[in-house]
Amino acid sequence: MSQLPVRLGVVGTGYVGLTTGACFAHLGHQVVCGDVDQRKIDLLTNGRIPIVEDGLEKIVHESVAAGRLEFVLGSQAAAADADIVFLCVPTPQGDDGSADLSYIEQAASEIAPVLKPGAVVVNKSTVPVGSTRAVERVLQRDDVFVVSNPEFLREGTAVNDFLQPDRVVVGAANREAAAQVADLYAEIETKVIITDPASAETIKYAANGYLAMKISFVNAVAAMCEHVGADVAAVVEGIGSDTRIGRRFLNPGPGWGGSCFPKDSRALVKIAEDHGYDFSMMRGVISVNDEQRRRMVDKVARAVGRHQSDLSGMRVGALGLTFKAGTDDLRESPAVAIIGELRKVGAHVKAFDPTTTRELAPHRAKMLHGIELVGDPMEVADGVDVVCVFTEWSEFAQIDLDELAARVGKGTTIVDARNLFDPDAVKDAGLRYDGVGRR
Ligand code: NAD
Repeated sequence: MSQLPVRLGVVGTGYVGLTTGACFAHLGHQVVCGDVDQRKIDLLTNGRIPIVEDGLEKIVHESVAAGRLEFVLGSQAAAADADIVFLCVPTPQGDDGSADLSYIEQAASEIAPVLKPGAVVVNKSTVPVGSTRAVERVLQRDDVFVVSNPEFLREGTAVNDFLQPDRVVVGAANREAAAQVADLYAEIETKVIITDPASAETIKYAANGYLAMKISFVNAVAAMCEHVGADVAAVVEGIGSDTRIGRRFLNPGPGWGGSCFPKDSRALVKIAEDHGYDFSMMRGVISVNDEQRRRMVDKVARAVGRHQSDLSGMRVGALGLTFKAGTDDLRESPAVAIIGELRKVGAHVKAFDPTTTRELAPHRAKMLHGIELVGDPMEVADGVDVVCVFTEWSEFAQIDLDELAARVGKGTTIVDARNLFDPDAVKDAGLRYDGVGRR
């Protein structure tokens, strides 16, 4: 059982850092979260949550009120009094596909002078094999231990995932430091895997690579279904019922995206390559995903009777912009990528997403530049040539198809990239239907 409370510092208050800080505070630890983004810190100190994440606001407010959670500007203020410091900064894709470690290195160099003797620094960011050592080299502190503790939360269910994880992985060369980090999770009933840093780092990439592979596999099966006249829903039920395979992550769609799978899959290929192994299977997984996005563009073009190289004058209505439902994250969203391709060949796109109805943060506004945003799902249907479902928000499944047909015009095609609608119900409303791998 851990000695509560442990004083924790969290560097970076994004999806992972804010969830980590709030959940550890919820578990009874004393947490200071720091970020370089003044806007985020201002919002958080005013009790506002910068991201959409179910259940996060409640535990942030409760922990702040209980005096266990505070927000500060910068990494040093977060790290100075901490026994354990979590690095939760971005590790974006570098030019050559590898993970860019500059944020990690910058954060480590900032906190190095203020860390208490005996402190533990934890890489919670997703970092390539060898990064635990890399952080040690930047810190240059013999009295500080570095531990890998990769995060497996999913956006949209991050709080739940953090508090009820399938497992906790801790990788460390030093047993005591590993135990200190593992102890933080003592209140949570889960399997704790303590291993060496290289294995912990590899677990994270292998897990994301495997999940991306599962989605690419089912997307390839869906493509095959369209060729052979099979129905992917029946196929998925058939293969997913096999307990060796399992039903989860077998939903065909517009391809995987988000802030993790794309960069982590490419980083996995690069890590393998740097160590002399050609991870050709992962390269295939990535190319199936690229192909899937092109297939969606092709479906839209066919729906309006045009070739995918020229959609000038065409108007496309898009339901959904985030990379999946339950989050406001637009990073590497298939919706945004496909819309970008449609716009490149001349289409005008108007879109609705439940997370873009309020004032947009500057980085989100930039990602959506050139897309006409509307405030109601039904509005996307007005005056367009085709309607597409790009994100599986449950409210889209409740749309009144008769009203949709009245607004868009009977005979118009719904390109359902998420297989959200019942094809028969769409046809009964007088619309045409094109899903993914469905007859
Ligand atoms: P994010 O971009 O949402 O948040 C990162 C935060 O770090 C930002 O607020 C940024 O301002 C801040 N930051 C950058 N440099 C800083 C510094 N020197 N000092 C203080 N703050 C600094 O990123 P994220 O989605 O939370 O991802 C963080 C890491 O966790 C990445 O490595 C990612 O791969 C990994 N991860 C993400 C998820 C996910 O679902 N988002 C899941 C598991 C792992």
